[in-house]
Amino acid sequence: MPPNSPYPHSLPEEQKRFAALKQIRDEVLALKASPLYAYRSENKYHPVIGEGSHFAKIMFIGEAPGKNEALTAKPFCGASGRVLDELLNSINVNRKDVYVTNIVKDRPPENRDPTLEEIELYAPFLRRQIEIIRPTIIATLGRFSMVFIMENYGLKERIGAISALHGKVFDAKTSYGTVKFIALYHPAVALYKASQKEVLKQDFQIIKTVIG
Ligand code: URA
Repeated sequence: MPPNSPYPHSLPEEQKRFAALKQIRDEVLALKASPLYAYRSENKYHPVIGEGSHFAKIMFIGEAPGKNEALTAKPFCGASGRVLDELLNSINVNRKDVYVTNIVKDRPPENRDPTLEEIELYAPFLRRQIEIIRPTIIATLGRFSMVFIMENYGLKERIGAISALHGKVFDAKTSYGTVKFIALYHPAVALYKASQKEVLKQDFQIIKTVIG
């Protein structure tokens, strides 16, 4: 790659990542084993795989798509997404430069919490997304993705209440090296409790210091 190339990533690597992420999409589309598959089909919903830069330094991981997301196939595009956008703006980070996804790729009925079975079924796709994109910062949105990352990336002993862990920076162990992990409250909390938005804003400032 010439030093001043306008294309920061090599074309073969871009193609490789695109193909690997498309493969995930195709597998999730065909995932009839999911308890959420029938609900998806009946409602003409889409699975929501993820969106953003395939070379993102920061990956945000939410819980599961809501109705707006399932109708559009885009993560965090409803009310919670507007909060996420505001938080990203507050640290001058462009949404297109990060990657946003969820653990569970299909909408659970009535926005109920995902079940353990659903999390286990969809988790391998998230693991693969992490391996493909190789973020250096993983920020979880809400309790479910926080527990998943801590359990699977060397932080099991440190798991605790999100009220105690949010905004703290941990070293998570991935197959490609140590990455920074930050647990955040889910942006939806700001919709129910305005004071929580300030907490989220402060925690986003921590992300900013980690980005450097
Ligand atoms: N909540 C989530 O956890 N994920 C979305 O994509 C939207 C809302």
